[in-house]
Amino acid sequence: MTLQTSGIHHITAFARDPQGNVDFYAGVLGLRLVKKTINFDAPEVYHLYFGDQAGSPGTIMTFFPWPGSRKGHIGGGQVGITTFAVPAGALGFWEARLAKFGIPVEKSSRFGETYLQFSDNEGLRLELVEREEGANSQWAFGGIAADQAIKGFGGAVLFSVNAAKTIDALENILGLEKVGEDGTYARFRTTGDLGNVIDVPLQSMSWGGGGAGTVHHIAWRAKDYEEHELWRHAVAQYGYQPTPVIDRQYFNAVYFREAGGILFEIATDPPGFARDEAPEELGQKVMLPDWYEPRRAEIEANLIPIQVRTLKEDEA
Ligand code: ZN
Repeated sequence: MTLQTSGIHHITAFARDPQGNVDFYAGVLGLRLVKKTINFDAPEVYHLYFGDQAGSPGTIMTFFPWPGSRKGHIGGGQVGITTFAVPAGALGFWEARLAKFGIPVEKSSRFGETYLQFSDNEGLRLELVEREEGANSQWAFGGIAADQAIKGFGGAVLFSVNAAKTIDALENILGLEKVGEDGTYARFRTTGDLGNVIDVPLQSMSWGGGGAGTVHHIAWRAKDYEEHELWRHAVAQYGYQPTPVIDRQYFNAVYFREAGGILFEIATDPPGFARDEAPEELGQKVMLPDWYEPRRAEIEANLIPIQVRTLKEDEA
């Protein structure tokens, strides 16, 4: 095994309400909306990307907010909990901030770390954990200072229908290293300083159902295009059926569903979100790939207008 991902590239989830999604991830959590584009397979639906100031790999949470879509339920075969890292000492700030927005929070602990667990406005399960690793975000919004702001992903909790198989894929395909087991969870780490800690409940779960409020897939980092080709080979050689390389405009993607039911993607770090917008203008305009540009007027007319805005709780 020569390949090892440095961690999570992005996590993609379903939602229903585009403005509610922006209000939660930009307004409450203070992430930057780094790209406002469409679902390339369904151009009537936005694809929204949130992250740090640059949308760095390891910080990118993305959504397909599809008005009127069916609600899913969280369960096996999904990322069950998405973990965001905040700077050491910032959890108290976040507890107070979530309370200000009336968001119920539970405190929980795993492997000696304290987690603040809550759900987004559509039921997606999230948690915050303090981590020393990872650079502070340079994006400040809603009165969240850089030394409090979400840095990016801490990692994720993978809900598997076959925990042994998911663990096998983490160790033997992605190259993660097991660093702990506590009777309930196994913990894996890799080399990155964000999106690098993955927990898997040892007990397999029954299948969840896809839809709003659930994660669709988790993408792992490949450092360049050359390594990406090697990943595709490695996945195939391990007996999985990877898709061809797909151009996702801001990264190249290969997908495969591991035998624990979770859709994995391998995504390239390049070219990134400054590919078609200046770094200071990220997320302001609806960006379309070239093949949709001729249909821009029709596509934009079908999208519900959305805006990043300061929420009333932050104005008081
Ligand atoms: Zn993806």
